[in-house]
This record gives sequence, structure tokens and C-alpha cells, in this order.
Amino acid sequence: MKNISILGVTGSIGTQTLDVVRNEKENFNIVGVSANTSYEKVIDIIKEFDPKYVAMMDEKSFEKVKNYCEDNSLDIEVYKGLDGLNKIATLDEIEMVVTSVVGMIGLTPTINAIRAKKDIALANKETLVVAGDIVMREARENNIRILPVDSEHGAIFQSLQGNDEKSVNKIILTASGGPFRGKKREQLSKIEAKEALNHPKWSMGKKISIDSSTLVNKGLEVIEAHHLFNANYDDIEVVVHPQSIVHSMVEYIDGSVIAQLGSTDMKLPIQYALNYPKREKCVVEKLNFAEIGKLTFEKPDIETFGCLKLAYIAGRKGGNLPAIMNGANEIAVELFLENKISYLQIEDIIRECMNTLEYIENPTLEEIISTDEKVRNYVRKKFNM
Ligand code: MN
Repeated sequence: MKNISILGVTGSIGTQTLDVVRNEKENFNIVGVSANTSYEKVIDIIKEFDPKYVAMMDEKSFEKVKNYCEDNSLDIEVYKGLDGLNKIATLDEIEMVVTSVVGMIGLTPTINAIRAKKDIALANKETLVVAGDIVMREARENNIRILPVDSEHGAIFQSLQGNDEKSVNKIILTASGGPFRGKKREQLSKIEAKEALNHPKWSMGKKISIDSSTLVNKGLEVIEAHHLFNANYDDIEVVVHPQSIVHSMVEYIDGSVIAQLGSTDMKLPIQYALNYPKREKCVVEKLNFAEIGKLTFEKPDIETFGCLKLAYIAGRKGGNLPAIMNGANEIAVELFLENKISYLQIEDIIRECMNTLEYIENPTLEEIISTDEKVRNYVRKKFNM
């Protein structure tokens, strides 16, 4: 029985993690959960999974959950805010934390969990993007595992099993291409939020759906792969694979390519990360190759989807530049979802921030966090928010 905490338990990955646990109740015990505002969902989770600790980021939602626990005389500690999130990430009783919160907010709880020697099932890619050097160093020093939950990185991780790291030639990250694959800049200029939220293959949260459509998501994943697998940027290639059946591949020096394939269902990489190194019974639909018929691959159109190019620039230059890129994107996506900027302005804002904000070559954790604040303030000021 593995004792775990789930950060961001009501989000897309959090909910799917619950599905996996529901199917393997004999393997996992959910000790702590955190959420932002969705207190009704959290109360349902309390009823079903009986966690001992709950944290709510939002004050009002915290009161609701706390009152519920008191009214029903439940022996549950309820915490609030970022302090609460950090408590859930570092509980004595747990051995693993599933970090499924979205965005920069995932950084400090992840670092604290690592320092408390918890294994991490990492779904929060921003953590590695903004502070990959620090996170990976802390993981080594504390001798814990970072198990990728992202489908691509889960696939690479599986394709690396049993092979010598030195015999890897390159990593091939697959991308669905998003809902606007094949479109040109003029067509993209008119895109509205609801179209960008409609992903053809994966069902995901709002932020990642937009990121997926701009290829920012793939850019973040390139940086994530660089850190997780200690790979040079020249050895990470992105290939568009619209069917999303091959979740990524590893090419070895002898020319062999090992890939992981599976349905487009996040429960598969979640289940693998949670159970690693074991495998458990299938919770997703199995593949039927005769029905799939064909798998296709093509080059990404980085002239149209410039964000992918920007991510390589940010990753290669390193320092706080990935944090600038990520912060600019997070706020630009918010503005786009509020219909305050156009679709192509997301890319413009990222580029402008990368060119304007102060570069720091070897940032501390504090400098990364302050970079993120500076980027957000810069963009907010520009759009009078
Ligand atoms: Mn992914």
C-alpha cells in the first residue's frame, strides 16, 4: 500500500488520478489532497477516499470544507492557502506526491516535497521548465524519483527502461499538432478562445488546451525532456503525429527506435508513474491496430507556430529565460481566455518579454520566483490590468 498526496485533485489530471486509484484501492491510500476553489468536489472526494488532510487555496472554499468536516465530526485537518499546499506536499505519512496543479504555483510545493524526500509523480511541467536545474539537483541530493506523468515523458521514460543512457542518440517527442495544424498566420489571427479549447485528441484543462494549440505545450515539454533525461537540445526532436498513438520515442546509437504506444488517455501514464516499476491491469481502452489503419508523421510548422522556436531559444539559453517565457505565456493565456488579446498576441507577448526582461544566468529559486512576478507585472501594466 502506497500512501500518497494529490495536489490539484479536482483538476483534469487530479480527477484522472482518482480514477486510477479507484481501480487500485488495494495499492493506494490517499492521505492528503489539495484544491483551489472546487469545495463541492473536494467534499465528494472526502466521502469517497477519506483523506486525513485537505488544503484549499481559496479562503471561502477553505471555510466550506472546514465547516463540512466539523458538522460531520470528521477527523480531518483542513489547511488553507500556499502554506496548506506545502503541508499536503510534505506530510510525514506519505511516500509520493502527485503534483497536478497547473502553472508556476506548483514550484514551491514540489521543491518542498523533494526536500521532504517524497517521490514525485510530476504532472506540473512548469516546475521543471522554470527551475529544472534546481529541481533535478535537489532530486539527486535527496535521492528521490521524479516520475513523469506527461504522456510524452512517460513514453520516453518507458522507452529508456533497460538501456544504457550513453547509448541514446536522440529523443523524439511526438506532438498532435493541436487543433490548428495546417492553418496559416492569417487564419490564426481570427481564432477565438472556444475554438482553441477544442482539442481533437486529448481532453485537457483550459490552460494546457491553449498551450497545445500554440505549440507552447510542446515547447515546455522540450525543456522538460532536457531536464528529466539530461538531453541536449540538439538531441530532442519534435515530430507531429496527429493520431497521438505513439506517445514519444527514443533513438539509440545503433539506429533502433523504441517507442511507447497506447490510447490517448492520461490514465495510462498516470498509472505507470504511480505503480513504477510495476505494471497493473489496463484501465484504458486497448489499441486495435487494424482499426487505426495508419500512423502518420510530419515536421512541425515552426514558422506559423513560432512559440516552439521561442521555447528552444529559452531552453538553450537557460538561466531565467525559461521562467520569463513561461510566465509570459501563463499571463498571455489568461488574457486570451478573457478575450483581452488576440490569439497571435500570445506569441508576441512571449517574444517581447524574452527580449525585454532582465536575463539572469544562474538564478536562485528566489530569483526565479521574482522573475515570474516581474514578467506578470510587465504584461499586466502593458494591458492596464
Ligand atoms: Mn504532453
